[in-house]
Amino acid sequence: MTSRVPTTIFYQTILEKMSLGFQRTSPPQEKSHSVKTAQGVIEFCLVRSIRRRSIEIRVLDHQSIRVRAPRFSSESDIESFIREKAAWIQRKFVEAARRQAHLAKRKYAHDQDFLFLGAKYPLNVNPTQRRRVQIDFDGRQWKIHVPILESGEHQQEQLIRAQLVKWYRQQAGEIFGGRVFHYTRLMGLKPQKVVVKTQKRIWGSCDYRKQNIYLNWLLVLSPLDVIDYVIVHELCHLEVPNHSKRFWRKVAGVLPDYQIRQQWLKNNALDLLLP
Ligand SMILES: [Zn+2]
Repeated sequence: MTSRVPTTIFYQTILEKMSLGFQRTSPPQEKSHSVKTAQGVIEFCLVRSIRRRSIEIRVLDHQSIRVRAPRFSSESDIESFIREKAAWIQRKFVEAARRQAHLAKRKYAHDQDFLFLGAKYPLNVNPTQRRRVQIDFDGRQWKIHVPILESGEHQQEQLIRAQLVKWYRQQAGEIFGGRVFHYTRLMGLKPQKVVVKTQKRIWGSCDYRKQNIYLNWLLVLSPLDVIDYVIVHELCHLEVPNHSKRFWRKVAGVLPDYQIRQQWLKNNALDLLLP
């Protein structure tokens, strides 16, 4: 249904063998466990649910995972499932650590580069006596006026971030609006609503029943080609609510080179995140 942020982690597999051990556990409680695997000890919190039919592993950060499991699956089944996926989990830990290090490096400060429509531009930060933050983009850089603050760097960074995010969201609204208009006409589709919003883990999504599409404003950091791909992807879901062959044929019908655009999104996902 969604084109997910490639760096986010979501894993779900049907557990073939379900144990019939009747353990009494209250469903919403999270419990801390650890399991020895070929890749070392993996700590996990476990959430059991009566409605679940499969075990799901979600990597939360560079060292922790959450496991959701059917209420009556045995601990040994859960542990062997984690052992089976240990190499995959370790890989995701490394990715998460890299992501965290990358984000920690980025500062909302003078001369730092940020993306807009796939190109990098620097922030030109000017402390002023004014009380409000002001941001202008002239096609070469963002000119930012920030009040001189006694409270220091961190607060100034937060002010710049807030202003930049506001600017990005505004641009996203305008740019996506125009592109959606173009493609809905081209494809003969009429979504009920197109919403630009903050989405933590995905670039876009589609509510097939309501015929709405949702776009992540962060996409405005990527090239127009890539924005178009996500828009076309979600628009195609208005007709085909899955990732079947028919769906991809439909996407390719509009954007024959969609795979290149998809790949860009995968390769550059890290740069599209703002700390
Ligand atoms: Zn999709």
